[in-house]
Amino acid sequence: MDGGRKVWVPHQTDGFKLGRIVDIGTDSIAIEPFDAPGTTINAIYDRTFPAEEYDNKDCEDNCALMYLNEATLLNNVRIRYMKNQIYTYTANILIAVNPYYEMPDLYSSNTIKKYQGKSLGTLPPHVFAIADKAHRDMKVNKVSQSIIVSGESGAGKTESTKYILKYLAESWGTHAGPVEQRILESNPLLEAFGNAKTVRNNNSSRFGKFVEIHFDNKSSVCGGFISHYLLEKSRICTQSKEERNYHIFYRLCAGAPEDLKTKLKLGAPDTFQYIRQGCTQYFISRASEKNLNADRKSQEYLKKGSLKDPVLDDVRDFNVCNEAMTKMGINNEDRLGIFTIVASVLHLGNISFEENHEDTKGGCMITKAAEDSLVTAAGLIGVNKEELRESLTSRVMQTSRGGVKGTAIKVPLKAGEAQSGRDALAKAIYSKLFDYIVRRVNEAIPFGSSMNYIGVLDIAGFEYFQVNSFEQFCINYCNEKLQQFFNERILNEEQILYEKEGLNVRKIQWTDNQDCIELVETKGSGIFELLDEESKLPTPKPEHFTAEVHNRNKNHFRLSHPRKSKLKSHRGLRDDEGFLIRHFAGAVCYHTTQFIEKNNDALHASLVFLVQDSKNKLVQKLFEGTKVQAGKLQFSSVGTKFRQQLTVLMQKLSSTGTNFIRCIKPNSKMVDHLYEGAQILSQLQCAGMISVLDLMQQGFPSRTQFSDLYNMYKSYLPPELSRLDPRLFCKALFKALGLDDKDFKFGLTKVFFRPGKFAEFDQIMKSDP
Ligand code: ADP
Ligand code: MG
Repeated sequence: MDGGRKVWVPHQTDGFKLGRIVDIGTDSIAIEPFDAPGTTINAIYDRTFPAEEYDNKDCEDNCALMYLNEATLLNNVRIRYMKNQIYTYTANILIAVNPYYEMPDLYSSNTIKKYQGKSLGTLPPHVFAIADKAHRDMKVNKVSQSIIVSGESGAGKTESTKYILKYLAESWGTHAGPVEQRILESNPLLEAFGNAKTVRNNNSSRFGKFVEIHFDNKSSVCGGFISHYLLEKSRICTQSKEERNYHIFYRLCAGAPEDLKTKLKLGAPDTFQYIRQGCTQYFISRASEKNLNADRKSQEYLKKGSLKDPVLDDVRDFNVCNEAMTKMGINNEDRLGIFTIVASVLHLGNISFEENHEDTKGGCMITKAAEDSLVTAAGLIGVNKEELRESLTSRVMQTSRGGVKGTAIKVPLKAGEAQSGRDALAKAIYSKLFDYIVRRVNEAIPFGSSMNYIGVLDIAGFEYFQVNSFEQFCINYCNEKLQQFFNERILNEEQILYEKEGLNVRKIQWTDNQDCIELVETKGSGIFELLDEESKLPTPKPEHFTAEVHNRNKNHFRLSHPRKSKLKSHRGLRDDEGFLIRHFAGAVCYHTTQFIEKNNDALHASLVFLVQDSKNKLVQKLFEGTKVQAGKLQFSSVGTKFRQQLTVLMQKLSSTGTNFIRCIKPNSKMVDHLYEGAQILSQLQCAGMISVLDLMQQGFPSRTQFSDLYNMYKSYLPPELSRLDPRLFCKALFKALGLDDKDFKFGLTKVFFRPGKFAEFDQIMKSDP
């Protein structure tokens, strides 16, 4: 780093800012930013990075940059994004920035054809290139492949996944059967039931999925299989401000034909407690209806109680979903069954309770106003209304004296308890309905003649919010596992590339996150196991669970007390109210108050018995095989189930060839051409991209084709030299310049440079012809 040099220094909103070194101190550097001449910024050495020579020149692969560091990475992606080139590689990893506007040409059938059979790197970076590589590798190596798509909510994971599926189906569909059609149609169907509008994404998937497309011995599509993970259940009963419940509720209310609406007693949507909580803005617009001009008044979103969302079209989307059901072979009867269950959840949510002051045992009763809802809900679920009343307002318990089981007694519930029971029932019904729909999709795309598959993983990336609970804990644990896998694979790939190119380099070392994974999953002291243990106690307590986590993992490097958090709000937590985990992507403080209840999927025994006895065939089917032990505390661990699923997934990923797509959300306003550098930098970090750079720095991160070097520099050299073939030309050139051979390696097709050495070489060339 010398005076006058162009460098990147950290910047609060842009991530990095470009400037020139004006002074070099013992432990910091003074930089004059280009956009504020006359001022200086002081930055520490470690956070100051050399910049590329040309400000607006971009590279399709970050590895072709002369300096590869987090600042140039961020900048290269930015330059490309601003030129509408949303994709960039870092070696074989694809970075995809959400454009937030339609780019039809980018995904047209013509483009699909262009990418077929082309090696990665021959055409501009694209999800299609990754899909094509996966298919080619599958065919050549006869090994299944996976594509791991990650990123935060709204980054474009689900859209990317859809484009990959489209590419595969269009390129290698058999056109003989409807199977690839069905695979594609599974998207609108699953999205109707598993997606919702959130503040981060108008169509946010609230579950993770691994979609396998299976191929037969001719490498043509022959079927598929979908696994799903962690459907968000809390949304079924409550929504935060400006958010919605699952799309299907609104779509059914808006789009169902009149006779169906009558049958399911679907009145105005805003009369349903379960779907109206987040929609404050529509209530406001309703209240101010009088003040609006006639033109806007005529718009449908002001229709009484419609809960019409300005950016969504529920009527159209209902038809799309309906169409998808038809294509999936879901007949009218089954469809009615599904809609009946959706409606039953809505009516169930309107059953409210109040304390029954006449009841000497302190129980509650259903409010007068909610009697109609009780009748309707019972009718739709297919149970007797009095039995539903009983099961909601009381619980059956087994008495026991001296260890001997006594008689079953009925314990009345308080209003609050009854409400929790009702919510638990609604969540169980809806989440089992979701399982059922995935099952139906899978039945519609059997893969009997499969030889291999390409699996696409669309799962939430690492996340941290103001308040982090069990959901974040599960997803971040999953991301730790994926990160470990990512490191292993990328490292491995670098090593393989070095070998293939005949470079003789030592093995790269990196810091593993195994200790963090162990903190969560070790037998005996792992957080998941401690949580399950707590849940099995007669009276589970969050404080006790939290204290156990701290006690059993004393001095664990990855674990801390909340007061160690950077955020003030977290530091206020008591030690038994939360814990902090140092994840690979940063420290996250978890609030543990709801861990126990969120980890438990079980319903009261009386509610299970009730639905298992239902006259509604579909309800019966949903609860088939649900085990209960009368009188006992019911417990079914969400965490353990997720861990088991994750084990299966990791086994699949390990046995396949892998490709990575890192999706980036450019801004929180969800608009096009706005690049919020600091947030993007933090996403690149969460995606493990910065650690990839660190990892590559140990080897030879910059690389360039002989032919490219030849073209870049031939004009600087005497004509005799330029008659040599590109490889010899480069060799002769490097020798003539007397470059230190520790700084670069000649491969078979490329020259590989140690960090920063490519740029040094470039400077010598240009300054000293
Ligand atoms: P995620 O699944 O990561 O939460 P989505 O894939 O649902 O995010 O993307 C959120 C929204 O961003 C989409 O509904 C769409 O409007 C927009 N979007 C994402 N990717 C693209 C793309 N490649 N082209 C155009 N718009 C996109
Ligand atoms: Mg999604």
